[in-house]
Amino acid sequence: MKKYSVGIDVGGTFTKLGLVAPDGSVIQSLQIPTEPSKGPAHFTRRAAAIVKAWNFGSVGLGLAGGVDAKTGSLLFVPNLRGWTGFSFKKAFSKSLGVPVTVENDANAAVWGGYVVALKKQPHATVIGVTLGTGVGGGLVIEGRLHRGASGYAGELGHLTLELDGPRCRCGRRGCLEAYAGTHAILRAAKARMRRLPSPLTPKAVAAAALSGDRGARAVWDEVGTRLGQGLAGLVLVLNPDAILLLGGVARAGRLVLDPIRRVFAAQPFREPFKQVVLSAPAQRDWGVVGAALLSRERRG
Ligand SMILES: [Zn+2]
Repeated sequence: MKKYSVGIDVGGTFTKLGLVAPDGSVIQSLQIPTEPSKGPAHFTRRAAAIVKAWNFGSVGLGLAGGVDAKTGSLLFVPNLRGWTGFSFKKAFSKSLGVPVTVENDANAAVWGGYVVALKKQPHATVIGVTLGTGVGGGLVIEGRLHRGASGYAGELGHLTLELDGPRCRCGRRGCLEAYAGTHAILRAAKARMRRLPSPLTPKAVAAAALSGDRGARAVWDEVGTRLGQGLAGLVLVLNPDAILLLGGVARAGRLVLDPIRRVFAAQPFREPFKQVVLSAPAQRDWGVVGAALLSRERRG
């Protein structure tokens, strides 16, 4: 069996490609524009031409949207119009001659975090949250990626926290994403910070909070508290061993972890919260790493 696998994380604007070792370290990587308007066949040809030069035994793709893992095609997609129905699995395996796995990008990222950051603890149940422009997630249940009936399991960004809360990008109100996504963080920063950093990014708001800006601290308290409220419900449902926070916003580290811990500590029914490990591992291209490791897993 060839040691390495290729991970391809397909975003609406850019795609990251990486050659990944079994321990999750990235040996080689690069980024190309996705060029969604040129269609999925054109994309596949370009990506395959690049990775052909590498030495690997399987390929994993992470795509934003609903994925039919069997056919390796997109069922539903928010930002790649016209890409549904195309079998990436067939197209990539035909051109590269190796087994190909296609998965939702957040599921792939969470799998990467489970294998690398949590050292793939056998039989562990893990709730993974991907924090960025959107809030997504994935579930590992007793050591297996849980896809659900049609691959949509783990969409925890649209859990409703408040029926009359702020409007979410999905059209509803009060979703977790409407409190913890990048847009929500920047909106809260504008409302609470006296001196706004420039450029205004979650990273800059985190830096301001760490250097003592009270408004910025209040922003992260609110984000963490809302995450804690959403996750508390899931902890009661799933009784997890660990919660993984991944993605750019997770870099805020304890700014966001401390309020989650406070929400957990204040729960009246404490038992399922006692053993939960909260982890915000150092940022990596988790989508690339996870897609590659998942393809390794599934090639058998
Ligand atoms: Zn929503």
